[in-house]
Amino acid sequence: MASLPQPNPAASKILLRSSNPVFLSSNRSLLLGDIGALSRNPRRLRQVSARRRSWYLSSVKAALDLDGGSGASLKAVGVSQMRKKDDLPIKVANLNDILSERGACGVGFIANLKNEPSFKIIRDALTALGCMEHRGGCGADNDSGDGAGLMSSIPWDLYNTWASEQGLPSLSKSKTGVGMIFLPRDEKFMEDAKSVITKILSEEGLEVLGWRPVPVNTSVVGYYAKETMPNIQQVFVNILEENSDDIERELYICRKLIERAAKSAEWKDELYFCSFSNQTIVYKGMLRSEVLGQFYLDLQNELYKSSFAIYHRRYSTNTSPRWPLAQPMRLLGHNGEINTIQGNLNWMQSREATIQSPVWRGRENEIRPFGDPKASDSANLDSAAEILLRSGRSPAEALMILVPEAYKNHPTLTIKYPEVIDFYDYYKGQMEAWDGPALLLFSDGKTVGACLDRNGLRPARYWRTTDDIVYVASEVGVLPMDESKVIMKGRLGPGMMITVDLQSGQVYENTDVKKRVASENPYGSWLKENMRSIKPVNFLSSVGMDNEMALRHQQAFGYSSEDVQMVIETMASQGKEPTFCMGDDIPLALLSRKSHMIYDYFKQRFAQVTNPAIDPLREGLVMSLEVNIGKRGNILEVGPENAAQVILSSPVLNEGELDSLLKDSNLKPTVLSTYFDIRRGLDGSLERTIKSLCEKADAAVRNGSQLLVLSDRSDELEPTRPAIPILLAVGAVHQHLIQNGLRMSASIVAETAQCFSTHQFACLIGYGASAVCPYLALETCRQWRLSTKTVNMMRNGKMPTVTIEQAQRNFCKAVKSGLLKILSKMGISLLSSYCGAQIFEIYGLGQEVVDLAFCGSVSKIGGLTLDELARETLSFWVKAFSEDTAKRLENFGFIQFRPGGEYHGNNPEMSKLLHKAVRQKSENAYSIYQQHLANRPVNVLRDLLEFVSDRPPIPIGKVEPASSIVERFCTGGMSLGAISRETHEAIAIAMNRIGGKSNSGEGGEDPIRWSPLTDVVDGYSPTLPHLKGLQNGDTATSAIKQVASGRFGVTPTFLVNAEQLEIKIAQGAKPGEGGQLPGKKVSAYIARLRNSKPGVPLISPPPHHDIYSIEDLAQLIFDLHQINPKAKVSVKLVAEAGIGTVASGVAKGNADIIQISGHDGGTGASPISSIKHAGGPWELGLTETHQMLIQNSLRERVILRVDGGFKSGIDVLMAAAMGADEYGFGSVAMIATGCVMARICHTNNCPVGVASQREELRARFPGVPGDLVNFFLYVAEEVRAVLSQLGYEKLDDIIGRTDLLKPKHISMTKTQHLDLSYILASVGQPKWSSSEIRNQDAHTNGPVLDDIILSDPEILGAIEHEKEITKSIKIYNVDRSVCGRIAGVIAKKYGDTGFAGQLNLIFTGSAGQSFACFLTPGMHIRLVGEANDYVGKGMAGGELVVVPVENTGFCPEDATIVGNTCLYGATGGQVFVRGRAGERFAVRNSLAQAVVEGTGDHCCEYMTGGCVVVLGKVGRNVAAGMTGGLAYILDEDDTLIPKVNKEIVKIQRVNAPAGQMQLKSLIEAYVEKTGSKKGAAVLGEWEAYLPLFWQLVPPSEEDTPEACAEFERVVAKQGVTLQSA
Ligand code: SF4
Repeated sequence: MASLPQPNPAASKILLRSSNPVFLSSNRSLLLGDIGALSRNPRRLRQVSARRRSWYLSSVKAALDLDGGSGASLKAVGVSQMRKKDDLPIKVANLNDILSERGACGVGFIANLKNEPSFKIIRDALTALGCMEHRGGCGADNDSGDGAGLMSSIPWDLYNTWASEQGLPSLSKSKTGVGMIFLPRDEKFMEDAKSVITKILSEEGLEVLGWRPVPVNTSVVGYYAKETMPNIQQVFVNILEENSDDIERELYICRKLIERAAKSAEWKDELYFCSFSNQTIVYKGMLRSEVLGQFYLDLQNELYKSSFAIYHRRYSTNTSPRWPLAQPMRLLGHNGEINTIQGNLNWMQSREATIQSPVWRGRENEIRPFGDPKASDSANLDSAAEILLRSGRSPAEALMILVPEAYKNHPTLTIKYPEVIDFYDYYKGQMEAWDGPALLLFSDGKTVGACLDRNGLRPARYWRTTDDIVYVASEVGVLPMDESKVIMKGRLGPGMMITVDLQSGQVYENTDVKKRVASENPYGSWLKENMRSIKPVNFLSSVGMDNEMALRHQQAFGYSSEDVQMVIETMASQGKEPTFCMGDDIPLALLSRKSHMIYDYFKQRFAQVTNPAIDPLREGLVMSLEVNIGKRGNILEVGPENAAQVILSSPVLNEGELDSLLKDSNLKPTVLSTYFDIRRGLDGSLERTIKSLCEKADAAVRNGSQLLVLSDRSDELEPTRPAIPILLAVGAVHQHLIQNGLRMSASIVAETAQCFSTHQFACLIGYGASAVCPYLALETCRQWRLSTKTVNMMRNGKMPTVTIEQAQRNFCKAVKSGLLKILSKMGISLLSSYCGAQIFEIYGLGQEVVDLAFCGSVSKIGGLTLDELARETLSFWVKAFSEDTAKRLENFGFIQFRPGGEYHGNNPEMSKLLHKAVRQKSENAYSIYQQHLANRPVNVLRDLLEFVSDRPPIPIGKVEPASSIVERFCTGGMSLGAISRETHEAIAIAMNRIGGKSNSGEGGEDPIRWSPLTDVVDGYSPTLPHLKGLQNGDTATSAIKQVASGRFGVTPTFLVNAEQLEIKIAQGAKPGEGGQLPGKKVSAYIARLRNSKPGVPLISPPPHHDIYSIEDLAQLIFDLHQINPKAKVSVKLVAEAGIGTVASGVAKGNADIIQISGHDGGTGASPISSIKHAGGPWELGLTETHQMLIQNSLRERVILRVDGGFKSGIDVLMAAAMGADEYGFGSVAMIATGCVMARICHTNNCPVGVASQREELRARFPGVPGDLVNFFLYVAEEVRAVLSQLGYEKLDDIIGRTDLLKPKHISMTKTQHLDLSYILASVGQPKWSSSEIRNQDAHTNGPVLDDIILSDPEILGAIEHEKEITKSIKIYNVDRSVCGRIAGVIAKKYGDTGFAGQLNLIFTGSAGQSFACFLTPGMHIRLVGEANDYVGKGMAGGELVVVPVENTGFCPEDATIVGNTCLYGATGGQVFVRGRAGERFAVRNSLAQAVVEGTGDHCCEYMTGGCVVVLGKVGRNVAAGMTGGLAYILDEDDTLIPKVNKEIVKIQRVNAPAGQMQLKSLIEAYVEKTGSKKGAAVLGEWEAYLPLFWQLVPPSEEDTPEACAEFERVVAKQGVTLQSA
């Protein structure tokens, strides 16, 4: 049994929280010393970081104590680098700029309904800000904040005092504009900037009243922030306009003119207006929360009075200092990320030409542009909102247009507020949604408001007090609050808005605001009169081509037999994409010796960490494939003409639907043929034709065409007129129209033969097509259905019968669900926002191609020119016309290995050679395997590199031993379930033998494996009887235990028995998607470990429901460090452009290890298009990550691990030179243990029992742990041999040494223009050696409340001796993951169920995130107050009660007292909440029972067990993906049914006596624990209430006594007694 921690006297002292400012400031001064030295000493830096956290926690708690002082000690000033402004005109948004800056944050506002300005509002805002420090981020010095800021009304008293001191006349509140300006650091530049500003203001007729240097305290600014601090001054101007809107507009014009004038100045990047208004002012900077008020002395001045304040704390993944990116912006404070930003920027730029409004009096040109790709997504959203606002829209209307809610299938809106639906329908065609997680706080000085994105992916709580103050914040508990004064508590749900009208003193909740806005115009009748929709047209019922013609078309356009048979035919017959497994092991298209369609050079981007992928399966109600066709009008003008568009329900058109579109005369369609002519030679032909195509498109649009159809349809194909790759044609026309201001005037549709897979559709739409008619793919479906082979198979029952129409419908259905999956991977809900968003990166196209058609996309390694692309296109084309044209399509072998086909990294010869080497333990055999790899065709980027040393060789004896090298090796996260028990255990034992690390994958682990074997005889152990080749001392535990989005098998004991904990954010085989285990692989054993039901498929949700943003990831890392402080926490990412920025955020989030996976890795089952078309090569991902971490001084904080297609020592050495410390092996480890690469893992039929759960197949498992040990030793010896050749003694010495690599001289057709300089670049070395980085202790959470609790000898005694004890403890929102560490101590000692004592811990206050996480049996936790998100996360037992304080001013039944995503991944215990919960209550719960008064959307999502009772209202999408457990919901007003997702569950009344008993006894327990009046009322009139309950029952529970009213009779009939059943 594990020993308990000893009481920690130091920790106990922290109990003495000080509210004494002296205490705080003395700690503070300690921390600010020696910052310069800190940046050179990361170890010391972390110590300071921990101390800073400790100080911060104490100070925040002191500030929150109702009877304590604010504790803020205030000090001193400073200067900076400014936002880089782009030159006019703005070019198409560049992904590189966008990727370099991402953020997420904590925000809030306070507003006085009486519009009475006070200093208290400011002081409270600063206090609240201080309590959200944990939501922000810091630079590498751990002191420079990523940003903090505050927006308020203008503090006239303060400024008038200043004015009078300056001898200036009093400032007129109605005539004075105030600019808060970041000016150049250099004094001369500053003066220049000021004179430009003054000149423009005077030209505009504004009189400059004075300049005020803003008083600041520079001593509190972090080291890095100080280096870039601007001069900060305010300018006061007198304006002549009378009307306040005109005043704001004039100030806006002036600002725009000044920004424009500054473009040519040397200091152009150093001028930034935080605000320039007569209503609002913004104080912000690169500061931490608590420093904001200390830095700006104004904020300490009691003359600073405002009736509202919006505050913001920023967490940026990038540590490069940029003061202007702090928030609030001029109108908005944004917590989240806009996923569609690149498309939004492009569309905004396209819109510039059409934007007009009389309010601008013809000055529209002077205020362009409306976006800046070099600014952040938040800054751009702010700009878009600002132009709408300044053009006369209200802030609420602007936000409704830009960030619409998911209004379709919305029962409340449909029934009660149809005008709101009309509003959204109208604007859907005018403005593409700015889509992504977003809590937006906004104000124009007259209204203050907040709204949430359509998915509700950020927390937002609000409350109102009797003294007429309204608060909104990311968290509750950020301010001291007398609960008896709180009269309302709520939260913003998905898409919801709240506004406070400061002038009328009214608060408008969601539908009130929207109804007011939507009623301003007759949107409904405009739509009815002008909007057309294309009715579905039947699919063709006969073929349109004969066999030969169809074949010729397929050949000409690049189809292979795999495309037809494995992709199109599967989609036509099954209505879904084919599934495949074991990753993508063919070369990138650029490295391939085969011709590829252009789409293969594109990889889909996906969300990871900074933004979440979303769940198209369970949360599809927020998604839509609808798209509008036709001209988009002037967004600033409202009128019926803007509604004159055509609506398509999806972008996939059949021939008839395209015809209907072409017949719409209002659209004036123009069809443009996309063939190029090579009769005058190939070179230059493609470019010429594309330019001419763009000109034709240009002319057509100028002539009024609103629909351009780019078509490669032709009855007669001609040998000398090949088709332009349609993606190139669409992209080029799209870009041309953008750059010529015509893009809003027309839509692009592709009628093409070159599109049959979901990826291809996504590419076309992503680069500008609104819809696609895939005529050849549909013809292929028809041909297939009518072929003799298919007819026979259907006749013989070998395949389900489908009609010719059904086959085409199935194909389209598969495309549509594939598109939803691709959108959701990037966290995008609406196809209309995906259109033109360019969410791809390019591997293998040269700059001229990118500039022509894919401008702004990342293409890091260069590649094909236009002529080379033309040649590749032609290589397909000629096949259709050659004399000896084959009678069937060629099989290129891109999917399955076949002799003569494409090279596959994992091929039969390679696996045979490897088996021989490891089984015979033969060095010779291993060297043959090595030779095979050395002689393979170029397969991956590293194959183009070789080592070049700067040293002479050394004897191998001098090189570090293999035993130390293998310690850096890990195996991939392959779940028990995906692979067999035998394989999983053999791999774990092998890795433990060599001191490496195996990875549990997502699915838990049998506790029997956590102790060393002592019973082995002749290689067999009764403990693990199915394995052979064992030794005493072997342990089958996986050193790395994985926490994935499904949380399967994640229990407290699992977590505390890990050496490392891995958070799987993405996986190489299918980044952006969740794991998938087919039902037939869920055996009883697997189901037991995963707390699920045998036979029920387990498809993990793509997002972690507790990670929607970077600060959420930081919270999960905190949770894991909390329960297991000794375990290092790793975060697994997949390579893509921008991963370096993401990784920086992860490092700042306190991860110990970052793992970069390549696209070619992964062993699990996924749709083919996910395997083939998402994720990038690890060489690029690793290089970017390593370099960015060094640039941000973060590299020493984290171990870098890499995996993806590793097979040999050379792979290890290459990765080392590119910066990796540790190396992961996936499929090759499976091959070494016996896999023969049959690639049918997902079918449960693995012939060698490696990836099957079938007993008879598992018995065939050939592997022993020794085989894998042999493999890794050979790999290590190979590493040693190369190191000795290079003259280096240890791996440490070559890590990050890209100078030891050089390009190989290899001549390949497609690599003429390949550029490897990105990989070979060097930014220097980390300050520590790799071994030093690896040997660090796990990072710490710093001092936490649990340490204090655990330092109490009575509590320790109760744990040690299993006694009962009761303690009361005060808690604050900064106390996070409370109880997690205590649970860890209990779980380590007693397991998940063994503790017989009872800890009664009573907390009072506002609990921070993840309260009561990972509870074990015996922990009885009571919280009097309220809690934030993730309450009861991962709890495995015990009891959790949350009740509000007594005598509240609000009704507990109506108040939200716990946040979002409670009980995520719970595996046991009971939870009683007297109040409402937020979104996703009990998501992925597998055994816990809970009673709550109400919930938000997605209640019981993906539950696999347990029981939830809701005594009040729930949101939408209840029980989505719920495959186990029961839910009882009280439905007093008969509104539940439309809110239930009925895909899986059935809804019934509670008829079964056992169900009634279960419900009643849970409510009885609930009333006893919480005193709920509602619960008591239900029990009091049980007979009346029972019929009002619905029971939600998934199929797996239908036959249980609780759900089946006939249970007894059925069981009796089966001849079984109830008892025995
Ligand atoms: S042998 Fe088994 S594990 Fe290997 S690829 Fe085939 S089915 Fe998958």
